[in-house]
Parts: sequence; C-alpha cells; structure tokens
Amino acid sequence: MSNKRDYYEILGVNKSASKEEIKKSYRNSARKYHPDVSKEPDAEAKFKEINEAYEVLSDEQKRTTYDRFGHAGLSNSGSGFSGGFDFSNFRDPFEIFEEVFGGLGGFSRGSGRQRQRQGPRQGADLRYELTIEFEEAVFGKERDIEIPRQESCESCKGSGAELGTSALRCPECNGTGEVRRQAGFFINISTCPRCRGRGEIVTTPCKKCQGQGRITNSRHLNVKVPAGVDNGTQIRLSGEGEGGEMGGPPGNLYVVIRVKAHAYFHRVDNDIYIPLDINIAQAALGDEVEIPTLDGKETMKIPAGTQSGDTIRLRGRGVPKLRRDGTSLGRGDQIITLQVRIPLSLTKGQRDLLLELGKTLDKEVIPQKEKGFFDKIRDALGV
Ligand SMILES: [Zn+2]
Ligand SMILES: [Zn+2]
Repeated sequence: MSNKRDYYEILGVNKSASKEEIKKSYRNSARKYHPDVSKEPDAEAKFKEINEAYEVLSDEQKRTTYDRFGHAGLSNSGSGFSGGFDFSNFRDPFEIFEEVFGGLGGFSRGSGRQRQRQGPRQGADLRYELTIEFEEAVFGKERDIEIPRQESCESCKGSGAELGTSALRCPECNGTGEVRRQAGFFINISTCPRCRGRGEIVTTPCKKCQGQGRITNSRHLNVKVPAGVDNGTQIRLSGEGEGGEMGGPPGNLYVVIRVKAHAYFHRVDNDIYIPLDINIAQAALGDEVEIPTLDGKETMKIPAGTQSGDTIRLRGRGVPKLRRDGTSLGRGDQIITLQVRIPLSLTKGQRDLLLELGKTLDKEVIPQKEKGFFDKIRDALGV
C-alpha cells in the first residue's frame, strides 16, 4: 500500500482542480479502462485505482484529509479502531462507475471480471448481520462471531493437486478455461464444464480438500463494534472473507449492524428521545424526578406550569458522535417529552380536594390558538 500513486496524478488533474474538472477527467479515464472495453492486461487494476482516486477527490472531507496527510490520512493506522478494522474502505469501483454514469453506462456489470477465470482469483466478500443491544450500539462493544467460510487449502496452497503432483492442462478447452461453440453466425463462449474454467485438471487430488483447493472452516472472530454505530452501519474486516482461488487473495468480511429496539429510549441520529408521564400536581407545582439516561439514573427538575408536550433537553446525554477515524465529536442530547397524566379514577379525598380547587379556578372555556401536542413533538424532532 506504501507505493500508491498520487490521486491527482491518476486522474491527470492538478491540485486546484474544481469538482467539475475532476468529474470530467474521471468520466474519461473510467470509460477508457473499464475492464469490459479495455484490452490492456492491467485494466481492472487501473480501473480500481481511478475509482479510488475519484472517491477521495470527489468528497470534500476526504480530499481535505488527503491534501493534508496523503494516503496515510485515509488509512486507519493509529486510530482507536484496532484489530483489523478499516473504516476508510473504498467502495466497489463498479458501484461508483454506475453512480456517475447513471446506470450501467452501456456496460454489463462484472462480466469483465469473470473473464479472468484461469489465474488466481480473489475470494468472495462475505456479509454477516450482527444484532446488538441498544446500549452496545451507543457505547461500543466487543463481540465474538463465528463465520463459516471457504478458505484456501493450506496443504495444496489452493491448487487442489496433492503435494508433489501437478495439474494437467485441460484437454477439453486446451487450458483456456472456455469452450467455443459455433451456432450459425454466432460463436457461443462458455465456461469449460470439465475444468470449470480453471484450464487445468487435477489428476491426484489433494487429500485434505478432495481437490477442491478450498476447505470449509468455521472461524471465530472478535469484532470491535465502535461506539455510536447505528442500524445498517457496516464494519469491514479486510481479508476475512472467503479464501481466494488458485492462490488469490481472500475477500473481505462486511459486518452489518442491526440494533435492537429499546424498551423506552428512541434514537434519532445521535439524540435520544424518551416520553415521560407526570401527574397534574407535578405539572402545576414542579418537581424533581429521577429519570433513566444512557449513563444511569439522573435527577431532573420539572418546572412549575409544565404542559403536555413540553420538552426538556439534557445536553451531552445522547449517543457519542465519532468521526470515521475514531476521534470524538462529543455526544448528542437526551430529549424528554413530558405528558401530563389526568387521573382516570379518584378516591373520595382526592375528589374533594379537586372540587375545592375547581371552585378557585377560572371556568371560562377559551378556544386556543396555541400549538398542539403533536406540533410540539414535530418541532422537537425537527420534522
Ligand atoms: Zn488441498
Ligand atoms: Zn477445461
């Protein structure tokens, strides 16, 4: 990774290039090196490089980081997330391409990649859904997960041939991995069924993997879930996907976070919402009550004259906000929505007291223009 080329150089723009210039240059190069059209042997690598450069330079924040710290600023060394985390993962180049060109841009997805069947192939990416508790998402947690995956067989180094023997060129396809069939004017090219595109046939299969070159293994992994993750957050574990074929590199593992709902906390981004019922005396006179927060119980003052729908904001009691590199941006807030509970039944004593109180209160019924309960909630949520 250390001998990476300069992103500006890759896209052929200078450091002060505008967003439009960068996009224009990207469109030209990406089209040229798309593995479906380019005849160059290293087109796919170039295509990846172009997309990586564009991903960084088209994003203001990433570009600023890159300008200041270079490639090192975008990799994750020295941050809070250790243990194989790579938050600065680059997106699938084909995905970026489709986004910029709007749809497939006349190319078929992935067909360029499938053509390289014979050489070493990277293992497939794996996706693992990890369901965690509400609090674990807020404060982070280490979790052990078990991943059944295909790994490259160590005994035969993924070749499928028993140690000391070698594979023979496939007689069906002559080692090309493809068979061509003429049908009228058309030539139909398909993967060789005999060698399954490998171009080779193993005569003495490796005993350990029965000639498959890969074995299924269940692996335990320790995943450090960083504080502040939310539903759908993806954590990439580089190289923890399926093993490559014919000595190719392994794929990546993507852990997708699912957060369980909480009994009474409701999260919107980094803020926590909680509804709280109070009685009519607490609402009218004010009170001090204990409320649950993410950090435990806390005493909170209810002001005298509280109305249903009033909100109280506890600053810094919400979910930690983290940058991708793990540095903290403080925490969100906890917002308490108060709801005045009118008693459904009264004892004789309570009834007498209320009757007494009622005599002293204004009995006039006045239509109100004031905002309703739901408007207030909407205001507090900012929706
Ligand atoms: Zn083997
Ligand atoms: Zn073959």
